[in-house]
Amino acid sequence: MEHADVLIVGGGPAGSACAGALVAEGRDALVIDAAAFPRDKPCAGWITPEVVAELPMGLEEYAREHTLQPISRFRVGRIGGRGVDVDYARPVSYGIRREELDAELLHRSGARVRQGERVQRIRREGGQWELNDSYAAPVLVGAGGHFCPVARLLNGSAESSPVVVAREIEYRLQGAALERCRVDGGRPELDFCRDLEGYGWCFRKGDYLNVGLGRRNPRALGRHVAAFVEWLVGEGRLEPPPEKGWRGHAYRLRAGRPPRPVADGALLVGDAAGLAFSTSGEGILPAMQSGRLAARAILEAGGEYSEKRLRGYVRQLDAKLGLPPQRRGLPAPIARLAGAALLASPWFTRRVVLDGWFLHRNPLR
Ligand SMILES: Cc1cc2nc3c(=O)[nH]c(=O)nc-3n(C[C@H](O)[C@H](O)[C@H](O)COP(=O)(O)OP(=O)(O)OC[C@H]3O[C@@H](n4cnc5c(N)ncnc54)[C@H](O)[C@@H]3O)c2cc1C
Repeated sequence: MEHADVLIVGGGPAGSACAGALVAEGRDALVIDAAAFPRDKPCAGWITPEVVAELPMGLEEYAREHTLQPISRFRVGRIGGRGVDVDYARPVSYGIRREELDAELLHRSGARVRQGERVQRIRREGGQWELNDSYAAPVLVGAGGHFCPVARLLNGSAESSPVVVAREIEYRLQGAALERCRVDGGRPELDFCRDLEGYGWCFRKGDYLNVGLGRRNPRALGRHVAAFVEWLVGEGRLEPPPEKGWRGHAYRLRAGRPPRPVADGALLVGDAAGLAFSTSGEGILPAMQSGRLAARAILEAGGEYSEKRLRGYVRQLDAKLGLPPQRRGLPAPIARLAGAALLASPWFTRRVVLDGWFLHRNPLR
């Protein structure tokens, strides 16, 4: 049996942030991930300035070896509609590739890592957690994303917060396709579904193009994605993307009644705790913030890891991310009408959609 101070299941941004904060304080954190890094993760790869502040390196240093696309403009609208251009005249976000960012973060955490090993057996024996009959520690952090086995153990299927289902493709433009591509780097396109249940995006990062669509309602996702792509192509904004390479994934929004993030000797972080922002679906920031907060709760517990002792983590999460909103939607026909009018308004798209929902700025300032 291999022992550690803390076992972390999952080496995405949440697990890496938690591991890095523990290692910085001299703790022995062991990260176990089913994948071998660099591993890919379905994601548009949009990060906000708050994520940049969480990174263990400066942007210049990161950009030396990885794709980093500054974003200073957006096109926002409705699928099938005209769209509004918004120009901030300076970078207000960045585009990254997840296989690059996540591998870098995991490496920089300084933690011991076991890659390519799926956690399948979790036992608690005499105050110790044991994983796969091979690893043991008094504290366990569930950072395994939407299908995290630790989250399943703590919450079963009792969660009731909304789930986003999404499909996306990221591919490298080469040769003639690169020359012909008219998608503007640094100007992502966000196009909301007519029922406002989700949105599609088209986002160029250097030589890579990322196209996808996510919805709260899983019904007919494939049809919505196909219609979105067909519309982009018909509008002349995109050449048909490759048929192979599309990937699907799901994640929980922080709204309604999210999963319980602590138990005796265990904490959940990132998607495992259902923390993505309910307005935008952004999940990298809350993943990294929750990882760091969980590490702090572990350090402050002073070796006594009862649920009561760890509960400060829940209060810290609420203080950092705000309480989960209790969403009551508008009736569908009203939402459709209101959405059409509001998304055609330059003031609304800039102040409410971008500043308020996506960029964490006070929309009315
Ligand atoms: C299509 C799509 C687009 C998105 N776009 C954005 C975006 O542009 N910006 C943004 O901020 N957020 C975006 N998100 C959300 C974001 O990707 C997630 O919120 C974020 O990845 C959460 O990080 P995490 O560390 O919690 O989990 P993950 O990044 O999912 O990492 C979990 C890790 O756990 C490992 N794991 C899982 N099960 C096991 C197991 N049993 N044993 C061992 N290891 C295991 C996995 O291999 C994985 O490496 C998007 C999500 C989707 C689906």
